[in-house]
Amino acid sequence: MGIGPRDVKRVVLTHLHMDHDAGLVHFPHSQILAAPSEIDTASGFMGMLRGYLPQRWPDWFNPIRLELDDGPFGQFAASKRLTKAGDVVAIATPGHTAGHLSVLVEDGDATLFLAGDTSYNQALMLAGKVDGVGPDTKIAAATLRAVRHLAEQQPTIYLPTHDPESAVRLATRQLVTAPVELGAAA
Ligand SMILES: [Zn+2]
Repeated sequence: MGIGPRDVKRVVLTHLHMDHDAGLVHFPHSQILAAPSEIDTASGFMGMLRGYLPQRWPDWFNPIRLELDDGPFGQFAASKRLTKAGDVVAIATPGHTAGHLSVLVEDGDATLFLAGDTSYNQALMLAGKVDGVGPDTKIAAATLRAVRHLAEQQPTIYLPTHDPESAVRLATRQLVTAPVELGAAA
């Protein structure tokens, strides 16, 4: 795409599991943002006991604590505008981890929902099935409900990191409400 690491002013981490932060080494010149509770949970010896790998972080890693203090966003309890225009917003999506966040990008006629590990894939989100090991399944289920609610309110392209279909949905601008997706969840 012609974008180099130095062109990336900010990197927003959805959470600090290794498969989401191991690429940090490529961005020594960028601002790195993560939720304060996620940083605290992942750091130090206790972080290691919790399954994080803080010992693998680059020496220079000193993330900016991204306080989600702009109030609720739809059914999401907390949010923070990341641009003056408000077209990029970080929202709290707790469940997979307590400090997990997602990023919404207004992109023309649709909202891109950069979901990290909010759910493994779109079908599980639509079905409201909490996957994997999370600290609190009720909170995770509430987050999935909030995602569905948002998608009902505005055209949304849902993009979980590990969903093999995310890249295709992005390329084809496939909305959450597209009939084929609803059928897949039934
Ligand atoms: Zn994870």
